[in-house]
Amino acid sequence: MSSLPSRRAPCHRTRLVTLATAAIGGFRLSSSYDGLAGDNRGLMPDSPKTLPLVFDEPRGRAKPPRHLADLDEAARKELLESHGLPGFRAKQLSTHYFARLVDDPAEMTDLPATQRQELVGALLPSLMTPLRTLEADKGTTRKTLWKLFDGALVESVLMRYPDRATICVSSQAGCGMACPFCATGQGGLQRNMSTAEIVEQVVAGARSLARGEVPGGPGRVSNVVFMGMGEPMANYKAVLGAVRRLTDPAPAGLGMSARGVTVSTVGLVPRINQLATEGIPVTLALSLHAPDDELRNELVPINTRYSVAETVEAAWNYAKTTKRRVSIEYAMMRGINDQAHRADLLADVLHSYGDWGWVHVNLIPLNPTPGSKWTASDPRDEREFVRRLEAKGIPTTVRDTRGREIDGACGQLAATE
Ligand code: SAH
Repeated sequence: MSSLPSRRAPCHRTRLVTLATAAIGGFRLSSSYDGLAGDNRGLMPDSPKTLPLVFDEPRGRAKPPRHLADLDEAARKELLESHGLPGFRAKQLSTHYFARLVDDPAEMTDLPATQRQELVGALLPSLMTPLRTLEADKGTTRKTLWKLFDGALVESVLMRYPDRATICVSSQAGCGMACPFCATGQGGLQRNMSTAEIVEQVVAGARSLARGEVPGGPGRVSNVVFMGMGEPMANYKAVLGAVRRLTDPAPAGLGMSARGVTVSTVGLVPRINQLATEGIPVTLALSLHAPDDELRNELVPINTRYSVAETVEAAWNYAKTTKRRVSIEYAMMRGINDQAHRADLLADVLHSYGDWGWVHVNLIPLNPTPGSKWTASDPRDEREFVRRLEAKGIPTTVRDTRGREIDGACGQLAATE
């Protein structure tokens, strides 16, 4: 383990621990970023913008309508009763929503016609309207632009493969993490999404599959990845609620396996540690993109708060606690982070936590985004990067670039009308 990034000096650790404590409390004490990345300019001369890191959504935004997917079973019942409606109807509504994927109240014939509108209004309010769906790969990749109740725009992408169907969901309208190579990051944060708004993207995808709208015959959603717009860990409570709804057995939820759910993060260390304690073994994906602090401070600005060593340690702790293999995401940028010495350093950093199969690397060929002058790595450099990682025993895969031509691939979601 030769060239590990140096461990923090004690005073540095104190500062980080303070920030971490603040973060657990909802990032209240650190609502804006103080521009530390400015000290490290020069590695990437064509940086588009240096944006602040934003943890809190802008104040004063109206809350999305309350929906049964926001609530557990008991709370759904209570909500109906508070409207003077019979609590037992909550289960019927849940069955329509999660098990039968019904969205038309006229099909809910087990609900008395006289009460139907009221029941639906209380627990199944409309949350979002599809504005546009773009298709690629002969219709098996579909990007949908959604308008939320307050006009906020988000996107989700459904990708069907021969053996599975994955939906990539957004967890925030926009994103406050300011990664310079990501279209969403460059647009800033509009607001957090509610649990039900996150879940509804999956339910909508499940409906189109069930109804045979995606080529390949009727199907089911097998995987959900939190890799759309937003930083899931910056909207922790709503995201965790969504994970619970996805994995709760029907009709309380969609009944998916936690193994089929992947939460991707820039590395909010206290939240990674918290997720490890929740008892839901979802797959964790960590957007590392550089093995050294100097470069990662620029590519993933949250690194100025949590160093590479601290972030990788949290990922390793997650793997140890949940027994789920962590995925390290690494977008390959030509001449920026794709050098042979960085492949070696990446392998060493990961190996310093042992080689018991806790981790694998998923390389992502950089997808083009507006205004970005960086390009994907030369295929030869990419192959050499893979070779070096594998030579040091790190399992490595290269992600496909599905949806690129409809701006639906990683980092391209910008949600404009
Ligand atoms: N905020 C979360 C989840 C969303 S992005 C996160 O960052 O992990 C999903 C993945 O796409 C992340 O690894 C992100 O860094 C990567 N990504 C962003 N922009 C990209 C681009 N232009 N090309 C390739 N991958 C990109």
